[in-house]
Amino acid sequence: MHAMVLTRLHGDLEWTERAERQPGPGEIRVKVAACGVCRTDLHVVDGELPDPKVPIVPGHEVVGRVDAVGAGVDGLTVGERVGVPWLAHTCGVCPYCHGGHENLCDHPLFTGYNRDGGFATATIADARYAFPLGENGDDVALAPLLCAGLIGWRSLVMAGEGQRVGLYGFGAAAHIVAQVAKWQGRSVFAFTRPGDLASQAFARSLGAAWAGASDEAPPEPLDAAIIFATPGELVPLALKAVRKGGRVVCAGIHMSDIPSFPYGLLWEERQLVSVANLTRRDGLDFLSLAPKVGIVTHTTPYPLDQANQALSDLRAGRFEGAAVLVPQC
Ligand SMILES: [Zn+2]
Ligand SMILES: [Zn+2]
Repeated sequence: MHAMVLTRLHGDLEWTERAERQPGPGEIRVKVAACGVCRTDLHVVDGELPDPKVPIVPGHEVVGRVDAVGAGVDGLTVGERVGVPWLAHTCGVCPYCHGGHENLCDHPLFTGYNRDGGFATATIADARYAFPLGENGDDVALAPLLCAGLIGWRSLVMAGEGQRVGLYGFGAAAHIVAQVAKWQGRSVFAFTRPGDLASQAFARSLGAAWAGASDEAPPEPLDAAIIFATPGELVPLALKAVRKGGRVVCAGIHMSDIPSFPYGLLWEERQLVSVANLTRRDGLDFLSLAPKVGIVTHTTPYPLDQANQALSDLRAGRFEGAAVLVPQC
């Protein structure tokens, strides 16, 4: 098998040949058909997440087919198409696992962060955390659903049921969430980097009621806002944009420091919360909803060995929607 391996933080991924491993008990081996590129992969490469593990194969939006099954695996068979998401393993015994909050597990493993992921021709996953994907939909089109879609969905649920939803940072996650929110009958307000007219036009093309720069006020107060972009400066801007009692959800795994702001922005029962990881329930809920919504993902495919280019294009905002690595491109 081949993998794009991060051998030192801040470095380039290296095209590496590795021996094909047999899946252990409870594991499946997945022949990768497509793997989305997520902003979290950039945070992994940049060493912005705690306790980085190197060498590591990034990638946690994996679509592929089971090609070997370890002992004791239930419900997944060779040839079946599956998705391997960010949540790779949980302990099952901590208070969070017991309380239905496995996304907050005290001893988790995450795909492409502390367990090798999908920037490869094959990957090994704990079968209990993989999702059966069925046969509908194209591999490349499905890949962004595995993180941008799932985390976006968890964030939208966390945002509550308000009618007017703001999305800060209109990338892979927001372009999916916008379609779900619109399908639910809500109005989407898209905020991009000032001057990023292409992303604003992209948001309008997906049905956003309004699109503008992140430092602009929306035309009416928002019920909730979700921040997908990393600058901490967006937090006070989003608080300013939501109504009394409104909620701001920080959906990223990493943000730059939040500047101090007047208490008046939080006053009147505005809420500021974050979303961390996903539960398997989120995945099952979202993946069953996605076909009903008719989500169309906008993807830019790259050959697997061009992973560094895909990461650098993501960093520079050179495409709309999501980049997806394809081993056989
Ligand atoms: Zn746990
Ligand atoms: Zn991700």
